[in-house]
Amino acid sequence: MITLPVTNPKKHSRKFNDISHYKKQARYHLLPFRFISLNNTREVLVNELGDFLLVDKGTAERIVKHEIDSVNDLELYADLSADFFISDSSIPYLIEVMATRYRTKKSFLDHFTALHIFVITLRCEHTCHYCQVSRVSEDKNSFDMHRAHIDSGIALMMQSPNPHVTMEFQGGEALLAFDQIVYAVKKASDDAFQIGKQITFVICTNLAPVTREMLLFCKEHNIIISTSLDGPEFIHNSNRHKKGNDSYSLALNGIALCREILGNDGVSALTTTSALSLAYPNEIVQEYIDRGFNSIFLRPISPYGFATKNAKKNKYDTQLFLDFYKKGLAKIIDYNLEGNFFREDYASIILKKILSPFPVGYVDLQSPAGLINNVIVFNYDGHIYASDEARMLAEMKDYTFQLGHLNTANYNDIFYGDKAMEFLNAGINEALPGCSDCAFQPYCGADPVQSYTTQGNLIGHRPSSVFCHKNMNIIRHLFELIDSDKRILNVFHSWIRN
Ligand code: SF4
Repeated sequence: MITLPVTNPKKHSRKFNDISHYKKQARYHLLPFRFISLNNTREVLVNELGDFLLVDKGTAERIVKHEIDSVNDLELYADLSADFFISDSSIPYLIEVMATRYRTKKSFLDHFTALHIFVITLRCEHTCHYCQVSRVSEDKNSFDMHRAHIDSGIALMMQSPNPHVTMEFQGGEALLAFDQIVYAVKKASDDAFQIGKQITFVICTNLAPVTREMLLFCKEHNIIISTSLDGPEFIHNSNRHKKGNDSYSLALNGIALCREILGNDGVSALTTTSALSLAYPNEIVQEYIDRGFNSIFLRPISPYGFATKNAKKNKYDTQLFLDFYKKGLAKIIDYNLEGNFFREDYASIILKKILSPFPVGYVDLQSPAGLINNVIVFNYDGHIYASDEARMLAEMKDYTFQLGHLNTANYNDIFYGDKAMEFLNAGINEALPGCSDCAFQPYCGADPVQSYTTQGNLIGHRPSSVFCHKNMNIIRHLFELIDSDKRILNVFHSWIRN
């Protein structure tokens, strides 16, 4: 006779247990994430990979207290699990996926320095009151970069592990030394061809001295033009002083000529926000729309160079810039909601970090910081600096960020030397006080040069930092917009796709 085991009728019941039973089961493990309030009712959770969830205020506290359960909070629980905020096991089953995604986010580091800035001359025919470089009058040939230094700069650029580098010519007014640019482009093209390296060439210019012949050379060598347009004529001419007060018309004529010869994508423009600009966000955006651009970069003035000497016109509270920025952004969003495409570039850089899994190698907003990792500057006099801002600081006689000289430069000393290590140690926001527990850390960056310039040391102090104040507010504002209207989220997606 076979004896059947005694069965427990309760164990095999198909009846649901009382809810308290499942509450006890609501055991999950916390994965690293941070959170921040957006307003009185909403907060945003951000994990180590930059994934985010917009939730009701108090949710982070409930998660941490293990009060979220898979029955009463079914949707939230699923989102938290799928987006790597919590895990059913102490080591997530998909930890390899998490590792791959983290590596992808940081893959801008894979190839090391891309942007090589050659300050080809310090001469300029403008006397802009906010100019970050201390310019000299245009007839001083001694302020052009020597060919030996151009050769040394190109030799260092060729040693970059990055297979695709950018060679950017800046000034002063770079076109005043066009013969040096021609020499540099030909030499760099030949050298790059020998070793199979790709180069993108960019000339930053106010376009006042541009000629048809210059642009034909640019077309032949696929050189991109980056110019400046500060808004309508009265703003542009007021910001960009020049004999004859014709900077605006010269810029527009130059842009038209660039488009004729290089095509519409061959020229882009940047705006700089002076104290005068602050009252005219809508007019400045409209100027860019009217001139046929499909984007604008609303930038504040950098706290370097001549900008600091003319405080009345250039120094303003960050909050005033933020008010200006938000008004300009609102106009841009409205224009998009009417069925047009027009992008704000700073928002687009941050949105790409928020809404996509891909890396963004934008020098001013990355961790580790962009200086040296992503950009190096060869000054007209042969000195080498860690970033564009670092050489502007040198124009104010502060040489803290000077890395060496092209006469004696050795790649390892410049890029991996003690100074480089010291600067980069201060440029990792995951480890900076204030940033290390900030929810916006994956979208933000670190700027040791600005910390040093405005606060006196490389590490900086976040509660009183202009960099932090600006980025904290802009990132929070973007999340509020994402949370407010699905149509705005669609607009933002269109910006990062294009
Ligand atoms: S700078 Fe400010 S906003 Fe940016 S990560 Fe640090 S604390 Fe956050």
